[in-house]
Amino acid sequence: MLDLIASWPGEFVVTQFDQPTGTWIFIAIHDSTLGPTLGGVRMKTYPTPVDALRDAMRLAEGMTYKWAGLGIDRGGAKSVLAVPHPIQGEERRALFHRFGRLVASLRGAYTGGPDLGTTPEDLGTIQEETEYAHGWDHEHDRPLDPGPYTALGVFGGMRAALRHAFGSDDFHGRTVLIQGVGDVGLPLAKVVREAGATVTLTDVDQVRAARVAKEVGAKTLAPEQAYTHKCDIYAPCAVGATVNAKTVPVLACRIVAGSANNQLGEPADGDRLHARGILYAPDYIVNAGGAAALPSLSKGADEADVVKRVKAIEGTLDEIFAEAKAQRISPAAAAQRRVDRVLAEGRKRRG
Ligand code: NAD
Repeated sequence: MLDLIASWPGEFVVTQFDQPTGTWIFIAIHDSTLGPTLGGVRMKTYPTPVDALRDAMRLAEGMTYKWAGLGIDRGGAKSVLAVPHPIQGEERRALFHRFGRLVASLRGAYTGGPDLGTTPEDLGTIQEETEYAHGWDHEHDRPLDPGPYTALGVFGGMRAALRHAFGSDDFHGRTVLIQGVGDVGLPLAKVVREAGATVTLTDVDQVRAARVAKEVGAKTLAPEQAYTHKCDIYAPCAVGATVNAKTVPVLACRIVAGSANNQLGEPADGDRLHARGILYAPDYIVNAGGAAALPSLSKGADEADVVKRVKAIEGTLDEIFAEAKAQRISPAAAAQRRVDRVLAEGRKRRG
């Protein structure tokens, strides 16, 4: 663990062992060049505490790229609660209260939000201890749902991609395949359908897929047929690494734009897509709508302002696609250059 911390290019890691539950807690602060850090609170059982720390570090770095790519003045961080087994009820609330006090002690250097394994209710518990968390709307006593905002960002990304690939962002006559119809996939299917596209849905939960298909007026497809299905846009909205050395050669789409995190199996897959003439909307830009919306929503910001912020993703992707074209590089590479540039400028400003 010491070697991992010593070799990490991030800023610092807060570590706490929670005696009552046997939980290792890590808050990895990767880069605060652009501002105080913001990133999800993940709760999961890991093989070892070192695996949990590695995950926190990797995810924190991803958050730095997300904020820099979008030009939002926040730094990248992530926290991980590595629980020895699932924890529920009062024990869970007590753990999140203790975690909340740990976050409070950082006095704003880190703000947490919902992530894998944590619910808006959990964030609400953390918010009882610190203002530096979001996910529960205490004023109206209801959860904040990032899904529709993430879907709105992906929809904007699709519009930018359509313009770039076909010269028009008209969805009429376009075919869109949505893989995974959960919190993001469902509202995305609705908005894409309303825009005039023909929508096909696939989900490992085929009952759910059929129900959503009926609701929005879409067709369904067996999950294993997703990669060879001919369509204009393939939207991965389920799991990561679906764009990989095996699937890229058989993909029958012109655009990949979806919400899933870590869509590429490895960075080279971005170039593989590019070589095949498939336009890729980099995941950490196109799926940032929920992350961009939630902090402001928690503070009671005006819905119109929040939506405006989410809609900015479309313009960011326009710029990334334009830079990729001009430099003859893949959009994944263009997004990375943009991030590097923004961080370098931030460092210069900070001195
Ligand atoms: P979710 O759990 O609500 O929905 C995922 C859906 O995908 C489920 O219906 C599930 O049955 C289905 N699924 C799982 N594996 C599948 C497979 N191999 N093929 C087809 N369907 C499969 O999740 P979500 O919140 O909608 O998030 C979807 C993806 O987007 C995740 O990768 C998530 O990390 C990412 N993401 C979500 C948000 C958000 O606002 N919720 C924000 C950023 C990124």
